[in-house]
Parts: sequence; C-alpha cells; structure tokens
Amino acid sequence: MKEEWILCPVCANKTRDRIRENTILINYPLFCPKCKNVSVIRVKDMEVCQVTMQKRSIVH
Ligand SMILES: [Zn+2]
Repeated sequence: MKEEWILCPVCANKTRDRIRENTILINYPLFCPKCKNVSVIRVKDMEVCQVTMQKRSIVH
C-alpha cells in the first residue's frame, strides 16, 4: 500500500498527516506544524487539492 505524507499547500513542508492510495478526504482541516497554518484540503487518488473558502452572502 502506497503511503505519502501530505504536503502543506502553503509552505510545501511535510505535515503530520499521511494519505494512502485509497484515502479520500473532503474538507479536511490540515494543520501544518511548520507554518502553523490550517488549510482545508480535499484528497482523492493521492491528489491533494486546497479548498478555497467561499464567502457566501446569506439569502433569506
Ligand atoms: Zn505549512
């Protein structure tokens, strides 16, 4: 089973989280111990995507 460390989308350093080939993450708050940022990411097929937080206006 292939396993890789998730890289921080901000500083590209290794985080403390690992993913496997079959790992699926949706809106996962990834903490980076290096730059102390929390990036919300999505992972599928070992591909990490940063989720941009979209500001929505509240519609009643
Ligand atoms: Zn970082």
